[in-house]
Amino acid sequence: MGRAFTRSAALIGVTGHILDIEADAGAGPPELHLIGLPERSVWPARDRIRAAILNSGIAWPDARVTLSVCPDAMPVYDSAADLALAVAFLAATGHVPPERLAGTVFLGELGLNGGIRPVRGVLLAIRAAAAARLNTVVVPAFFTEITAQVPDAAVIPAARLSDVIAWLRDGTTHGDAVEAEPVVVTPPAVDLADVPGNRTARRALEVCAAGGHHLLLRGEGPGTMLAERLPGLLPLLDGTAAQEVADIYSLAGRHDRMPGSMPPLCAPHHTSTPAAIFGSVAANRPGAVSLAHRGVLHLADAPEFPGVILDGLCRPMDSGEILLAGMGRSVRYPARFLLVVDASDCPCADRRSCSCSPGVRRRYLGRLTALMPRIEVRARTEPIARPAQPGESTLVVAARVREARERAAARLAGTPWRTNAEIPALELRTRFPSEPEAVELLRSAVHTGVLTDAALPRLLRVAWTIADLRGVDRPAEHDAAGALDLWKGAINGEGR
Ligand SMILES: [Zn+2]
Repeated sequence: MGRAFTRSAALIGVTGHILDIEADAGAGPPELHLIGLPERSVWPARDRIRAAILNSGIAWPDARVTLSVCPDAMPVYDSAADLALAVAFLAATGHVPPERLAGTVFLGELGLNGGIRPVRGVLLAIRAAAAARLNTVVVPAFFTEITAQVPDAAVIPAARLSDVIAWLRDGTTHGDAVEAEPVVVTPPAVDLADVPGNRTARRALEVCAAGGHHLLLRGEGPGTMLAERLPGLLPLLDGTAAQEVADIYSLAGRHDRMPGSMPPLCAPHHTSTPAAIFGSVAANRPGAVSLAHRGVLHLADAPEFPGVILDGLCRPMDSGEILLAGMGRSVRYPARFLLVVDASDCPCADRRSCSCSPGVRRRYLGRLTALMPRIEVRARTEPIARPAQPGESTLVVAARVREARERAAARLAGTPWRTNAEIPALELRTRFPSEPEAVELLRSAVHTGVLTDAALPRLLRVAWTIADLRGVDRPAEHDAAGALDLWKGAINGEGR
């Protein structure tokens, strides 16, 4: 009988933490004690560990075994430490050599049959292991491909506890350690050429992609088709951004949907719960606003969403992250997305036989009141008339977007901002002034009540993007007029 020591990992927010696992086997009745787990996790963990060991062909030892997890009472124990607890048990009871556990992190939930089940956040845990200079990580076999993304760690995939026992005894594995390889870029599956007509809406989409502005699409046209094509217009994610996105998808357990270098698109249904949209602190699970991080959040039939969700979106739109509190703790998830709000003119969405009263229509769109000041680009969509000429392709539009973004990036070099949408209002007055005529035009719109004071800097940002798309040095009157048109875009024809 003896002692053994190994490691696993737990997650808080998007950060992985290394757990120390200790096992002590001594004389006494054959019992298994677990220390350091939240109370509700103890019984299920013990049952899984016992069954998995017995079903891996190991006779239950005649010993009293204590397993402990440190730091104890990690807020979220989602069974990812099962495998580490089981190998510590096996080492302390003499079934595998204890010295083989040093420097290795074990991740995985055990099935009763001895299989190793996938867990959430494997990528984050591997990163935490590499940061702690623990360079070997045993993970559920399911993760063979995605885990190749962390170059500093040797990742050993295992399908069953018996595989891990064999590896610890003689160093053989069914699969070899996975070499790091570059992330594969999947080209967008949809093309902007599939959306004919809709000149204004397509232009609005291009401006939003170029400047990082939020978008309202209103009407009975192809709002969803346009939103789905926006990620294809955005530049590919660079290393840091791709890693942030991969971490979030790993934490969410959405390894099958990893966007790679493509900016993600997240389009939750209006029946989604607030937890599905914003995330859950209890489950340490990010929501749609974080799954859209560095990409696009699309709300189809936006006024159908509950007010608590529509209003709640303002926070992440302003700060680029979401802070969740509850159960005596708080977590922060990144949530910097480009919002596309897609709304019909009225709840029936039936242009031909609509009998909704003006009051009903007003109340319907009134649900977007909190969001509207933050959405600087608005356009109407029109139903696609068939037959129609195909529109410009994603490739052509994305090339213009790229050039505009390069102009903005050169101008913003040395600042914390990447896109025009991020430039603070003060800097727009002092460091990045527009032509006086451009400012004058927007000021007069404020005087006539078309714009509020607060909206003026938002329109200046859009004017900068239009100037970048034109390839000129700073926004002129013409660009400010373009921004004003986009701002008023979706309201035209409503008699307002
Ligand atoms: Zn109607």
